[in-house]
Amino acid sequence: MARHLITSAIPYINGIKHLGNLVGSQLPADLFARYHRARGDEVLFLCATDEHGTPAELAAAKAGKPVAEYCAEMHEVQARIADGFRLSFDHFGRSSSPQNHALTQHFARVLAERGMIREVTETQMYSPTDGRFLPDRYIEGTCPNCGFEDARGDQCDNCTKQLDPVELINPRSVISGATDLQMRETKHLYLCQSTMKEQLEQWIDTREGWPILTTSIAKKWLNDGDGLQDRGITRDLDWGIPVKKGDQDWPGMDGKVFYVWFDAPIEYIACAQEWVDAGKGTDWQRWWRTDKGASDVTYTQFMGKDNVPFHTLGFPATILGSGEPWKLVDYIKSFNYLNYDGGQFSTSRGRGVFMDQALEILPADYWRWWLLSHAPESSDSEFTWENFQTSVNKDLADVLGNFASRVTKFCRAKFGEQVPTGGSLGPREDQLIADLTARIREYETHMAHAEVRKSAAALRAAWVLGNEYLQDAAPWTTFKTDPEAAAAQIRLALNMIRLYAVISAPFIPDAAAQLLTALKTTDDSWPDDVAAALQTLPAGHAFDVPDVTFRKITDEERTDWQTRFAGKRD
Ligand SMILES: [Zn+2]
Repeated sequence: MARHLITSAIPYINGIKHLGNLVGSQLPADLFARYHRARGDEVLFLCATDEHGTPAELAAAKAGKPVAEYCAEMHEVQARIADGFRLSFDHFGRSSSPQNHALTQHFARVLAERGMIREVTETQMYSPTDGRFLPDRYIEGTCPNCGFEDARGDQCDNCTKQLDPVELINPRSVISGATDLQMRETKHLYLCQSTMKEQLEQWIDTREGWPILTTSIAKKWLNDGDGLQDRGITRDLDWGIPVKKGDQDWPGMDGKVFYVWFDAPIEYIACAQEWVDAGKGTDWQRWWRTDKGASDVTYTQFMGKDNVPFHTLGFPATILGSGEPWKLVDYIKSFNYLNYDGGQFSTSRGRGVFMDQALEILPADYWRWWLLSHAPESSDSEFTWENFQTSVNKDLADVLGNFASRVTKFCRAKFGEQVPTGGSLGPREDQLIADLTARIREYETHMAHAEVRKSAAALRAAWVLGNEYLQDAAPWTTFKTDPEAAAAQIRLALNMIRLYAVISAPFIPDAAAQLLTALKTTDDSWPDDVAAALQTLPAGHAFDVPDVTFRKITDEERTDWQTRFAGKRD
């Protein structure tokens, strides 16, 4: 049995994500996980919330809550919405878990013992009023470039110039507003990534068939300018994983935490421990340790392109640098951006559709289908309401939904609510089976390579074959002259509904389940042999006519939604 470890980039904790975030990692990862489970493979599919760092502290402060409490609440919110989208994580963990604390501190100790970590003394803004060092984003002031008065320490939102906090005119603390800031010396830890440049480059060169998007971003970071740089892995923050060597104190590092970019990917491993500790699994090491059974695991990561550097270089540097036998990623599937209706999604301006809002207006499958069939793979793609309406109405309502509805209703009217008996298949049906087989094999090939849009296109083509067959065979006409032949055609068509439910489930799991329920079958075995699969429901097998599987989106709804999601969410 093939074994697939699948992770989605972990979403940041501070708020509800928009559909562009969803299609950039969690949703295609879910598609891939569901597909491999449907094929009978052993799958461990993990995701978590990324909870540390300054934005979490700031969001908690804004919400007037202690940061730990804020994160716990937002984790529940994100978990509930993920469930609403039918994201089938085996575990949805938290980067703030005790498991991740221990594992991150373990990696830091091992890396330090192997000379992979160096201490650097830097000067940093200190606020005596607040009694702490201030990270860049905790400092605001006037932009030296454009005069904007609320420029952040790392960047001016008005002119987009990247800034160093010392460049700000009249800098002040975001926490207290204090202006008596001082530059003070402080010590930080750096991961010596630069010494691993060759090892990382060699490793990337041995990765076969990685998407060009992934490899080109990695190579750029490895080689552009001065090449791969050492990177700070500690911060002066309260909220985070305390800097320790394993369970031992780290002299001079009191009050500091690990930088979120260091601990977040380690959560992929810690999440598997959480999965076991939650009683859902029994052995996480056979997924993650190549010396403990993980050598036959295929590990695929899904992420937006902005996350590629951390997954091709940062996290592998941690794993390779440790010298321990951890499983490294086999395939990195990265995505471009989904834009929204002539611009970008904007969390701050509430522009675009957010995951919670999407589920308020339509069931998950409508969104899953559109997003996956338009996934931004080779280039950025764009969500427009016109395209969404057309795609849902055509693909889901007119093609798939209509097929199931026509076939079951016609059968009920002429033969009753059971699979009709009699008649036999002819050359037209042989051709249909051959065509379906070709489309399904094509679908499998694309799915195996995580080619999302091509998989959707092959699936849609398989659905279209059903409607073409109905048009061509016209059982409602055949029935008048040769009821036996019509019975054979409808028997085949009813079996096609089951086959469609099985192969479509990774994309539209709720609709697939609805169709199987209507057909009163639990047989969701994969159609390795399509001809045999189309005989699963025998003559005499009872069924129900399903309720409407997919309804159409009206022009009024489209216009209404277009206005509603144009921007200004609180
Ligand atoms: Zn500026």
